[in-house]
Amino acid sequence: MTSLLRCASLWSFALVLPTPFALAEVNKVETLAPGVYFHEGDLKGKGHCNNGWVVFEDYVLVIDGNFPSGAKEIIPKIKAVTDKPIRFAFDTHHHGDHAYGNLVWVENGATPVAQAGVIEEMMKYETGYYGGKPGRWENEAKNRKDVAESKLKPPTLLFNRDMIFDDGRHRIELLHFGTAHTRGDGFAWLPKEKILFTGDACVNGPYNYTGDGDTGEWIKTLEAARKLGAKVVCPGHGPVGTGELLADQQTYFVELRKQVKKLARKKPSDVQAAVPQIKEALQKQQRIARYVGDFFTAQVEKVYVEMGGKPFSSSKAGGDEQEQHAQAHGADLKR
Ligand SMILES: [Zn+2]
Repeated sequence: MTSLLRCASLWSFALVLPTPFALAEVNKVETLAPGVYFHEGDLKGKGHCNNGWVVFEDYVLVIDGNFPSGAKEIIPKIKAVTDKPIRFAFDTHHHGDHAYGNLVWVENGATPVAQAGVIEEMMKYETGYYGGKPGRWENEAKNRKDVAESKLKPPTLLFNRDMIFDDGRHRIELLHFGTAHTRGDGFAWLPKEKILFTGDACVNGPYNYTGDGDTGEWIKTLEAARKLGAKVVCPGHGPVGTGELLADQQTYFVELRKQVKKLARKKPSDVQAAVPQIKEALQKQQRIARYVGDFFTAQVEKVYVEMGGKPFSSSKAGGDEQEQHAQAHGADLKR
């Protein structure tokens, strides 16, 4: 029975994914090109993000810091394919599942790299680290042993628009196109292989957390990323896809905004009451149905507020979103 179900789900993946990646699975190293690797993290079980790494002549650059437990999971897998030292860990943004593993990378000889906005976001949300009241790290540490046992380590090597790593064989361009999932989103682009690592600016499944971003800007940022002409897109969460994945993600926000715009002048309670209809309308669209998920009410509220509306009553949706985000990222793990 299990294997039948498994076959059925693989088969449905095969419909939306390019054949070489049709058998993608969680926690398995995939070779995308010589020296270029992708690893889909165990989001459901451990809250881990996806990782990538590129083996340069003298060092390895890792894409995304993950949670401490995620970093510890990846390091032996990198060491299994190369003996080059891991020198750089690129945080695609400031969220815990992408940056809280930084100290683990530092302890293994790497320097955390990020777009400068990541530090600004950390100053805003990681108040505990910067000498204020307990912030997100302290909150996460209540539920995650790996976080409780580690320490926040903000990135120390920063760029504004871009940073380039090139040894003549491999080239990675770390790029910032503006706000999307957060105000410090960075992409990792491999122009020779036409492979793009997006962090959570693009996901492949119902994982869009909109709380720290701006959905209008997000669409523009994805437009800029699409101009790169990627053939393979490695999302922040969910399986690897083709260049079309960027368009799918973008279409999701275009369609969500279209639906909310129709109600932009209505009262918050009316918009909240219309959430099931909006959900249904989006689920009918084959291209984006897989993006409709648990954060949906909060996504509708976010867009409505961006369009000038007031938050839903007692901002319950926002609270739910925080809660669901934490759960999606493994906060329910009591280890
Ligand atoms: Zn995120």
